Amino acid sequence: MRPKIKEMSGEVVDSNPYSRLMALKRMGIVNNYEEIRNFSVAIVGIGGVGSVAAEMLTRCGIGRLLLYDYDTVELANMNRLFFKPDQAGMTKTDAASQTLAEINPDVILESYTQNITTVDGFKKFTDSLTRDIKGNATGGVSGVDLVLSCVDNYEARMVVNQACNELRQTWMESGVSEDAVSGHIQLLIPGETACFACAPPLVVASGVDEKTLKREGVCAASLPTTMGIVAGLLVQNTLKYLLRFGLVSKYLGYSALKDFFPTMAMLPNPQCSNAACLECQREYELDKPARDATAKLKAEADAEEASRAAEIPLHDENEWNISLVDDDNLADVPAYSGAGSSASRDLPEGLFRELPDAEVVDKTEFTEDDFVQSGGDLDELQKQLEALNAF
Ligand SMILES: [Zn+2]
Repeated sequence: MRPKIKEMSGEVVDSNPYSRLMALKRMGIVNNYEEIRNFSVAIVGIGGVGSVAAEMLTRCGIGRLLLYDYDTVELANMNRLFFKPDQAGMTKTDAASQTLAEINPDVILESYTQNITTVDGFKKFTDSLTRDIKGNATGGVSGVDLVLSCVDNYEARMVVNQACNELRQTWMESGVSEDAVSGHIQLLIPGETACFACAPPLVVASGVDEKTLKREGVCAASLPTTMGIVAGLLVQNTLKYLLRFGLVSKYLGYSALKDFFPTMAMLPNPQCSNAACLECQREYELDKPARDATAKLKAEADAEEASRAAEIPLHDENEWNISLVDDDNLADVPAYSGAGSSASRDLPEGLFRELPDAEVVDKTEFTEDDFVQSGGDLDELQKQLEALNAF
C-alpha cells in the first residue's frame, strides 16, 4: 500500500495520484478541487451501482466514505464491476473497504454491515450520519455532505428518504430496471424537490406489497454496462454538487435500447404522505425571503464582476500585433482586398509555396480521350449505365 499523502497537490510527476484531478483547476473546470477532501459521502447499498460509485469517489480522493450493506459477495455478482471471485463469502462492506483502502489509503472508510430497514438498523443508520469527518457527534444534525442511495428495493429507498427528510439531508437516488436496460438518478433536496414519497410508484400507491411482486425462481437481469453508466452519472453529479461546478441534474433517466436520456424536475407534493417531508416543505417556504435576498446579493455581485471584467483588456501584451477588424471594413485589409494581395503573397527568401494560388490553377479542358485512355471502352460503359438505369 502506498503511504498516505498529506496534502493534495497539482505537481505534475508520475508519482502523484492526484495530478490529473488537480489539472481540472488548470483547465478552468473546477477551482477548488482539493476541497474534495473535506467531504463525507454515505453510500447505501454496495451492489452493482454502489460499489462502482464507491470506487470512483475513492479514486477521486473523497474525504470520507460511509458504506452500508448487509449482504455478502456472491459469484452471481461477477457479471458486474468491482468485486472479485476470491471475495465471495465476504460481506460487501468488508470486501469493498479492503479494495478501496488499497486503491487510496487517504480516504477515511467507515463500513456498516447492517440492514437499515429494521428499527435497530434505522437508528444505527441515522446515528452514523450524525457524526462528522473526525468522528465527533454533531448534535443531531447531519455530519455528511451527501447520501447516495444505491439500493435495489422500494422499502430501503423509503428508509433513506425518511432519514434524509428527518436530517434535512440532500441525497441522490439511483436505480436500474429489472430488465437491465434502463436506469435513472434523481436529486432530492428535502422541502425543495419532491421526496421519494411525494410521487410513489403506481404499484405502491395502489397498496400492493412489494414482496409479493417477487416471483419464485425468477431473478432480475443485470448488465455491468448499465450499472456502470448509472454509477458514472451518479458520481459525476456528486462531484458537480460537492465542488459546485456545472449543472446538477434533478432527474436524469437512461434508456439503453434507444440511448435516450430524459431529464425533468419534480416539485414536492403538498399532500405527501411523509410528515417529515411536509415539515421540510413548510421550512423551505418560510425561508423564501432569506433565499431571495441572498439570490439578489449574488446577482448584484455577478453584475459588478462582469462590468469589472469588461473594463480590463483581455490581453495586456500583443507580441504579434494582432488586431480585430470589423467585417464591414475588410476592404482595408490587404489579404481580403485583392489590391496588394501580391505583396501579401511575397515570402521571405528561401521559403516557397507548395500549392499554386487559386487564380493560377491549371484550367486545361478535359477531352473524351482522358476518360477512355485507361483501357475503358466508351460504348461498353454506356451499356453498363443503361443496364443500371433499367432498374
Ligand atoms: Zn414528500
